[in-house]
Amino acid sequence: MMGIGGINIYINGNWIEEDDREKIEVLNPATEEVFAELPRGDEDDVDKAVRAAERAFEGWRNKSGEERGSYLDDVVELLETEKDNIARNLTKEQGKSLSEAKGEVSASIRAFRYYARKARNIEGRIPPTESDEVRSFVEKEPVGPVAAISPWNYPVLLLSWKLAPALAAGCTVVGKPATKTPLAVREVFRSLDEAGLPPGVVNLVFGPGSTVGKALVRHDGIRKVAFTGQTGTGRQIMRDASTNIKELTLELGGHCPLIVDSDAKIDDAVEAGVYRSFRNMGQICNSINRIYVQENVYEEFLEEFVERASKLSIANGIEDPDADLGPMLDESGLEKTKRHIEDALDKGAELEYGGEPPQGEEYSKGYFFKPTVLTNVNHDMIVMTEETFGPVAPIMKFAEVQEAVEYSNDSIYGLVAYLFTEDLEKAYDIAEDLEYGTVGVNNVSGGDAPYPYSGWKQSGLGTELSEEGLNEYLKPKHIRAKSLR
Ligand code: NAP
Repeated sequence: MMGIGGINIYINGNWIEEDDREKIEVLNPATEEVFAELPRGDEDDVDKAVRAAERAFEGWRNKSGEERGSYLDDVVELLETEKDNIARNLTKEQGKSLSEAKGEVSASIRAFRYYARKARNIEGRIPPTESDEVRSFVEKEPVGPVAAISPWNYPVLLLSWKLAPALAAGCTVVGKPATKTPLAVREVFRSLDEAGLPPGVVNLVFGPGSTVGKALVRHDGIRKVAFTGQTGTGRQIMRDASTNIKELTLELGGHCPLIVDSDAKIDDAVEAGVYRSFRNMGQICNSINRIYVQENVYEEFLEEFVERASKLSIANGIEDPDADLGPMLDESGLEKTKRHIEDALDKGAELEYGGEPPQGEEYSKGYFFKPTVLTNVNHDMIVMTEETFGPVAPIMKFAEVQEAVEYSNDSIYGLVAYLFTEDLEKAYDIAEDLEYGTVGVNNVSGGDAPYPYSGWKQSGLGTELSEEGLNEYLKPKHIRAKSLR
């Protein structure tokens, strides 16, 4: 099978050669063709990978921050060189266009660059004590071997958000990407290998979450699990990690509102709203899942929104590298999207645009679907309360902005909320009222290395990115010493 080159699982600095294990097929969602296959890992691989990470931990944690930072600098350089290759693999297995895939790799490189700097600046503190004869030193020490488990929608980025701070902190890592998107991650590990990280510092296993992922989470050599994925999986991971009380960072599902108040710049709100509703076919944790628009500007917003959505180009992202949209990942995501739309229509929603696959020979294969706009929606409909993870934008009218805030907070999730208004004083008040880890005011930018990304409520536990994200891989140690004078 093309593209494999006899390399796959990576343990203790070695690529395990092809063997007679069962294979995992990798499908191109734009063509439905199997274009690669990888050997399916098992619990024995997990054990070997964790043992390698345990053995490597002592040496890696004892390297200076300068040394670890310098390794990460080399990773940055290698990833820059490999950017196009990684992005091509990503487009083929995930479906986003080549330019979007390059954007994902660039954002991953930014995370490595940011944490290369941070590795050199991990500081403790010396708090005052009650007596001159006592000194207190608070140090930060790496937690130990980490299991880094990532989903399929941003496989490279979301693994990098774990690898980079873990390595900077002095932790060793066993990575497990989603089964449907293993190839681009494997290419990232080639760069980690070439950077000459000591054997066992990073390891990579493949295989189903229900066996390989579970074994990793339950392994007694793992001290921390850093996971991004569905809230339901997060709950299971909490249970499995409780066996020996592991540290946890969980970045889970979302259901993100956009509020457009009457004083918003409508053109800007529409442009940003369309982008963040449909990018990567709505398969993003911080996608806009529901839109609340003040009644005075509702008609204008809706008209412009539908017009813009209808102009988004849809294509195989290798053939048209700048396409706005590609296919969805798979049949099950497509079916879920259709189910959510059907549920809304059955309960009285109106279809303003989309609701079907695009027409044409070029879409005869692949999981393509038109961006879909619904109105006359309410919170009894699944689309207004559950993550569709598909290209659907339900739009609802409100009279007073406080109503929209209440609707926004009427959710088990609390990942990201967006707000458009020109009144910045009001914006600040509303932002404080929104029960979300991130609030975007007059912009819909995604998470980036210097800023904390933290899911509230059932959107997660702990924080990724920024200084806070680094601290998730460090444990404070208090050394209290008497008679040091
Ligand atoms: P998922 O089904 O939960 O899987 C995520 C990862 O966990 C995959 O590698 C999966 O392996 C593995 N896994 C599954 N069951 C496991 C278990 N019991 N123990 C250990 N690992 C297990 O999520 P997904 O469908 O890939 O991703 C989409 C979800 O991720 C959405 O809900 C989205 O909102 C969320 N997400 C959140 C963020 C955030 O930052 N908050 C960012 C992106 C995505 P397999 O692939 O083999 O099943």
